[in-house]
Amino acid sequence: MVGHKPTGVRGQRGTCATGLRYARRMRRGILLLFGTLYVGAALIGHAKERGGAMTCECQDACWCKRPGIRLFRWVLPLGHKLR
Ligand SMILES: [Zn+2]
Repeated sequence: MVGHKPTGVRGQRGTCATGLRYARRMRRGILLLFGTLYVGAALIGHAKERGGAMTCECQDACWCKRPGIRLFRWVLPLGHKLR
C-alpha cells in the first residue's frame, strides 16, 4: 500500500466522503421541501385573498401592496403597515 490515491474525482473537489455529499443533498432536499411548502402556503393565501375570504388591512405604502411580492403577504407577517 503506497498512500491513498484519489481516483475518479469527477470535479467534486477531492472529497471521497459520500456522507458529505449525502448531507448536502439532504439539505438541498429540505430547502426544496420548505420552499415548496412556503410557495404553496403563499399561493393558498393568495387564492383565499382573491376569493374574498381574507382581506388585507394594510396601507397602500406597505410592502405587500407591491405587485411582485404581494404573493407573500400571508406568509410573511412582518413589517406590515397597518391602518
Ligand atoms: Zn402589508
